[in-house]
Order: sequence, then C-alpha cells, then structure tokens
Amino acid sequence: MATDPGAGDMLADVNSHFDRAAAFTGHPPGLLEQIKACNGVYRMRFPVREDDGSIRVLEGYRAEHSFHRQPTKGGIRFSSHVSEDEVVALAALMTYKCALVEVPFGGAKGAVRIDRASCSPGFLERATRRYTTELNRKGLIGPAVDVPAPDYGTGEQEMAWIADTYIVLNPNLLNPYACVTGKPLALHGIAGRTAATGQGVAVGIAEATDSGEDMAALGLSRGVEGKRVIVQGLGKVGFHAARLLERAGARIVAVAEIDGGVARAEGIDIDALQAHRAASGSIRGAAGTETIESPAEVLERDCDILVPAALENQITAANAGRIKARIVAEAANGPVNGEGDEILRERGVLVLPDLFLNAGGVTVSYFEWLKNLQHVGPDRLTSRYQETSSRRVVEALEGLTGNELGEAERSQATRGPEEIDLVEAALADTMIHAYRSVHEIWKTRAMPDLRVAAFSLAIDRVAKSYLAQGIFP
Ligand code: NAD
Repeated sequence: MATDPGAGDMLADVNSHFDRAAAFTGHPPGLLEQIKACNGVYRMRFPVREDDGSIRVLEGYRAEHSFHRQPTKGGIRFSSHVSEDEVVALAALMTYKCALVEVPFGGAKGAVRIDRASCSPGFLERATRRYTTELNRKGLIGPAVDVPAPDYGTGEQEMAWIADTYIVLNPNLLNPYACVTGKPLALHGIAGRTAATGQGVAVGIAEATDSGEDMAALGLSRGVEGKRVIVQGLGKVGFHAARLLERAGARIVAVAEIDGGVARAEGIDIDALQAHRAASGSIRGAAGTETIESPAEVLERDCDILVPAALENQITAANAGRIKARIVAEAANGPVNGEGDEILRERGVLVLPDLFLNAGGVTVSYFEWLKNLQHVGPDRLTSRYQETSSRRVVEALEGLTGNELGEAERSQATRGPEEIDLVEAALADTMIHAYRSVHEIWKTRAMPDLRVAAFSLAIDRVAKSYLAQGIFP
C-alpha cells in the first residue's frame, strides 16, 4: 500500500528544509523567524446539506503564511486527509515557491476535509459555495487579499463556483474575477492554466536533463529523449507532465494510480490511457499494458526518472532505499519526506524539489490574475501589430534575397501570437530562469542539493522584501 499521506509530518519537514537553507543566507535570527512563521491560520466548521436533506458538518482551513507580499495565493485542496499542520506546511511552500519564480504573492493554502469521490456534484457545489462564504466572512478571499486556485481534488468547476459565490457576495467590485484563478476559459480564465503545472514539470525536467555534466554524474545521457519515466498520480499535474514528457521523446514505462498501476516497457500511450480511465473509471486493464496491483510497488520499478505527482509522504525511509530512479522529480508537494530525502541524497539521486518543479501552476495563475485586473488578454493589444511587423521583415528579406515564401510558410512566419503562445513561452522562460538561478548557487556555493539552493534563494528574496519595508534593522 502507498504510505498514508497523513502519516508524515510535512510541516516539520518544510521547517527543517528552511533551517538547512537559512544557515546559508546570513540573515539575522529574528528576520528568519518571521519568514518561517505562518502569519495566520483559520479553522472553520460549517454545515452542508446532503442530497437526502440531512446536514453534514465539514471542517475547512485557510492558512496565510506570509504577508510580505499581498495578496496571498495558494490552492484549495479537497481531501479526506487534510489537517491544520498540512495546510500550514503547504502555505509555507507557496511563499517560497512564489519567491523562487518571482511572482509577487505571499503564500497561502486552503483545504476542506472531504472525500470528493464519495460526494455528489450537488453536494460538492454546496460545500464549495459555503466554504467560499466562510472565507468571505473573514476577509480571507479577494483580488487584493487572498486568491485561491486549484489543488488536489479541485479544478475549474470548483474555481467557477468560488468566483460566482464571491461575486454575489461582493457585487460592486471592479475586478471580482481576480478573486480566484484556475477558472474556466469562458469565465475569465486564461489559456493554458489547466496544463500549466504539468507543463512546468516537463520544462523543469528538460532543463535539468540538459546538463551533460549533471547527467554524466548520474550515469545518464543528456536530454529527455529516450528516458524511462514513471509517473505516480494521473491527475491534473501528472497527466499533463506525462503527456508532455512523452511528446518530448521520453518513454512512460509505468503509471501508478490510487487503485493500482500499469506498465509497458516500450512506453505507454498517455492519451489512450486517459481515455481508458475516462471510460472505465480506472487505469487498470488498459490495452497493451501489464496491470500492477500495488500502486506503491510501481514507484520501485526500474526507470530513469520518477515523477511523484499525487500527494506528500510517498517516498520515505520505508522505500527510499529501493527507488531505482536516478532522478526524482517532485511534481507533487512534499512527495519525499525528510528521511526519504536524506536517503536519496546519500544514494546520489538528483531530487528536483517541489518548490521549483511545480511552480508553473502559480506562475500561470499570476498571468490569469493580471488578465483579470487588466480586463484584457495578453495577446489582444499586440498580436496584430506583431503580425504586421513580422510581415514587413519577411517582405524586406524577400526583396533582398529575391526568394518568395509560399503562402503557408509566410503565414507560419508572420502569425501573431495567441494567448496560449504567450502563456506557454512566459511559463517556459520562468521555469528555465528559475532552474538556472538555483543551479548556479547550488554549484557555486557548494550547497548539498538543489532543495537547499532553492530554499535559500527564496528565503533571501523574502528577507530582502522585509528589509526594504524597513521592518527589520
Ligand atoms: P488531482 O486531484 O488532479 O490528481 C491527483 C491524482 O493522484 C488523482 O488522480 C488521484 O487518484 C491520484 N492519487 C492519489 N493517491 C495516490 C496514490 N497513493 N498513488 C497513486 N495515485 C494516487 O491533484 P493535482 O492537482 O494533480 O495535484 C497533485 C499534487 O500536485 C498535489 O501534491 C498538489 O498539491 C500538487 N500541485 C498541484 C498544482 C495544481 O495546479 N493543480 C500546483 C502545484 C502543486
């Protein structure tokens, strides 16, 4: 069986990563204490009507970890395993993640203890709307104060309910849709948000494997092409990461889901697997694959890159010694616990840390928030201008060379960008820039691993923000 996601102490792990990294920053203890502390956490209980008319009382949380930047930002999780400490740990990770990819938010996280698989759509809607009302009551949601997004167990539909509820409760605002990100495109969302976290994971892995020197140290060849990959969790993050890695030439040799796994040495067709799951309710039994009973066993199979994209505490002292991957790419938050991390480090496994690798989601959420504040998409003002400029350049080159492009080539060369083109390019740029910054300080400052380097860079940026505010001497 997979490790119980509630079993580890994620908050202790995040704080221990913080302490290891803080030692490299040279900032005074009081400032570090303020950066580490969760600035606010709210626990609520609220009633929701079941389909049969009875009442169930749900427990929910919102943690706002850092007010050094506002609004605060972070996903909302629906899971039967949530706890206050877990939400605080996830909110802290959001602070460091935002600082790392330079999006101007403090970290936050919300959760409702609920097993969505056993809930009707009607119950989920009532629960989401009531949770939003509770947040609104306490001033814990709004474009300028705290902006939720999807996380484990929530998606576009829940974000749409949140936006709609917020707007009903706050009818006279100018920018109400900026109260939440990850909304459907038709409800002021942004192209590419659903795939963004998985896409960031794929870009991050491509960038990490692009270093011939780092790959040689792991006994691997350079690049994603031909790498054998195992993905745990075929949800919003895992599915898009797997699909894009497959497209980049990797072989997805196994996938683990909550009820079992599938394997195929020649590579699994991820779209076909997803279609099988949509039709049958499970990945098990997909055509041409071997079904594996235990999802936990899948993690220990032979591969080059393991992508845990489900939940925290999946690689621990209990199984880290048996992980065969040379790279563990943390698509989920906290999938490797403190002890697991130590064992992987001792075994020379390269861990791409969560606060870097899954930051693509909050990056594109930032673009969505900006779009909602500006009331215009990023392409609207520039696309035709760029198309005209490119056409002039092409015509000038044709005049100089005497060679004319065909109609199809010309339209390809001069096409103005659409929203999705700009979002994907800016996301890739953000991930690559972040990786290079972290990699540089890992190597030049002789830090033990990428996680310490990423945390120390993030802490330093938050510290500079406090220092600039004049709060600390
Ligand atoms: P999701 O609910 O869309 O998908 C999670 C998937 O994992 C589900 O298909 C579930 O069945 C599966 N799963 C659960 N337990 C499992 C187990 N023991 N073994 C195998 N599969 C299991 O959630 P998501 O949004 O993809 O989030 C996954 C992780 O990524 C979480 O840690 C989340 O905090 C993190 N994350 C998500 C986003 C985002 O934009 N959605 C952004 C950053 C980080």
